Amino acid sequence: MNNNQLSQRDLAVLWHPCTQMHDHENFPMIPIKSGKGVWLEDFEGNRYLDAISSWWVNLFGHSNPIINEALKQQIDTLEHVIFAGFTHEAGIELAEKLVGITPAGLTRCFYADNGSAAVEVALKMSFHYWQNRGEVAKTKFITLENSYHGETLGALAVGDVALYKKTYAPLLMNVITAPSPDCYFREEGESYADYSTRQFAHLEKILQQNAGEVCAVIVEPLVQCAGGMRMYDPVYLKLLRAACDKYNVHLIADEIAVGFGRTGTLFACEQAQISPDFLCLSKGLTGGYLPLSAVLTTSEIYSAFYDDYTKLSAFLHSHSYTGNALACRAALATLGIFETQNVIEANAVLARKMHELGQRFLHHPNVAEVRQTGMILAIELVKNKQTREPFPWQERRGLKIHRFALSKGVLLRPLGNVIYFMPPYVINEEELTLMFEIAWQAINR
Ligand SMILES: *Cc1c(COP(=O)(O)O)cnc(C)c1O
Repeated sequence: MNNNQLSQRDLAVLWHPCTQMHDHENFPMIPIKSGKGVWLEDFEGNRYLDAISSWWVNLFGHSNPIINEALKQQIDTLEHVIFAGFTHEAGIELAEKLVGITPAGLTRCFYADNGSAAVEVALKMSFHYWQNRGEVAKTKFITLENSYHGETLGALAVGDVALYKKTYAPLLMNVITAPSPDCYFREEGESYADYSTRQFAHLEKILQQNAGEVCAVIVEPLVQCAGGMRMYDPVYLKLLRAACDKYNVHLIADEIAVGFGRTGTLFACEQAQISPDFLCLSKGLTGGYLPLSAVLTTSEIYSAFYDDYTKLSAFLHSHSYTGNALACRAALATLGIFETQNVIEANAVLARKMHELGQRFLHHPNVAEVRQTGMILAIELVKNKQTREPFPWQERRGLKIHRFALSKGVLLRPLGNVIYFMPPYVINEEELTLMFEIAWQAINR
């Protein structure tokens, strides 16, 4: 089999995610034969540096020997078992570990099998908690402008990326949308902290006026990833935590993308020294191996569901593959790597190198901003540097950059006019340099 044969077979039967299939009439799908570390290889021996961690899931490289070994042992023992009425060692040990490493107060772990499902679980649990407590007027959610929480209908409703949401608007529940703390829009000379604090005032006011009918506020801590890697200061989360307490509203932290070290700390909430009422995790949870997600919550919330069956207060949500043993084992191996290797410290060195390599872009006439939080660095391309007028989306600059970079052996997948790097943590300095160099060439094309 060569690339062309496989991509023809693909086009005859497959429908790919987040894709206008028509784009692939002339630009073939790339069949990947194998992966090792940060590199992917196709059927003709071409290699691609995975600069976006295969949609932000991969942490320690493709075909990681430690995770591979853990999975091989698990697969000969137990692949999966119904997770209602039954349990297994990998699922128990993973929950113990997650309770141990996540912010204080999160003592319960509920599994689902992808990020959107975790968001649905958190939304339903929050709503149901208030119902069980007799606060039946609480039925709404507050979300931030430009946020993204997944694409099933509930998760889509609490997101705010028009490209994914607009078409489905008639199907979605109403939410209250607060202005974003997105610091791309801060005034010249204004600090991240000042702008984030200023933007928080809007949310405080919304809470003041609506708290009686609000279940929870849902946020992506520190980085709005799918919304173009837009960033804000931890002070926003601190203020938000205090306000949620004051107004008796839950805080849902969606760390599906930013969790597991992406922002420079194991969890982004740590930088604000806060604990949410719900923490959603997925993506990097299994090191990029298998679909799994977890919702961590508090004893207080758990206890509102804990009663005699006939009270009908239980949380009856389920997915067939809840707590899949192989996925839990992959997650345990991934957390084991965090435990045995100084990942966060090593990442700080890589992040500094990324910062250095990003400097070159600052003065480019078509770059409005270079921003970074930990292991995420983004470059905002604009038509006009002074006015920040964006390139018209119809020009599809991002797609052109994607295609050019691929031809040079680097997988970049810009979000509109935002080029970003979110590499696996096993990347080395030489590979980082290559990644930025190809992006530089791509922009200049
Ligand atoms: C990717 C993502 C989701 C959705 O996860 P899926 O596994 O793709 O359903 C939710 N929230 C955030 C912040 C994400 O980045």
